[in-house]
Amino acid sequence: MKETIRQTILSLGADVCGFAAMERFRDAPAGFSPVDIWPACRTAIAFGVALPKGLLEASDELIYGYFNDQTAKLVDRIGLDAARRIEAQYAAKVMPIPCDGPYDAWDAETMTGKGILSMKHMAIACGLGQMGKSSLLLNPAYGNRLTIGVLLTDLALSSDEPSESICIPGCTRCIDVCPVHAIQPDGTVQQWQCRPNTYGRNARGFDTVRCNACRRVCPMRFGKE
Ligand code: SF4
Ligand code: SF4
Repeated sequence: MKETIRQTILSLGADVCGFAAMERFRDAPAGFSPVDIWPACRTAIAFGVALPKGLLEASDELIYGYFNDQTAKLVDRIGLDAARRIEAQYAAKVMPIPCDGPYDAWDAETMTGKGILSMKHMAIACGLGQMGKSSLLLNPAYGNRLTIGVLLTDLALSSDEPSESICIPGCTRCIDVCPVHAIQPDGTVQQWQCRPNTYGRNARGFDTVRCNACRRVCPMRFGKE
């Protein structure tokens, strides 16, 4: 059943897909475990869609921002379609979780938002990668280019093996390149420093992404080649 579900999600356009049973979330912060969202949840399924490598070459602030946003919409579409297909195939309930917004948890003072669930931590629990010093998810095949979606289900499925870490020992390129020194040695990003530097709007009112330097500079941005 697990491999059939994985193939269903991959056939809808995901590049990677992994599974985690609830014991993987024992140490999740209060309010941010799958069972806090849905007590009957037995398994989390994370999947990812990779940005094209060429988008990391875009110097134009609009191009990267636009397709980054479109990728989030594609991930939510895959999640919704997959939930409906899995429910049609099995006696199960499946809950898709928004991959970006909306969410409630927002600290205006530090400009720090928390998704309904942390997509990055869900991906790590499901074996899709490990966090780099940049705090971006690093996947061995797709580097730091994955946008992650999550499905929760009351089906009991086994966890996948954790992924290896591909963050390079001794490398500090992402930390050094950050123009506002937002990336901390403990791997956290100070959002109040990053957000004002990164997100904007042009004179015509279109959203822009002015900085993705920590993503572009990473030697592992395309994965292990
Ligand atoms: S996006 Fe830019 S400002 Fe934000 S952490 Fe990365 S390098 Fe720093
Ligand atoms: S730039 Fe270097 S330190 Fe930062 S995430 Fe990539 S490999 Fe790790």
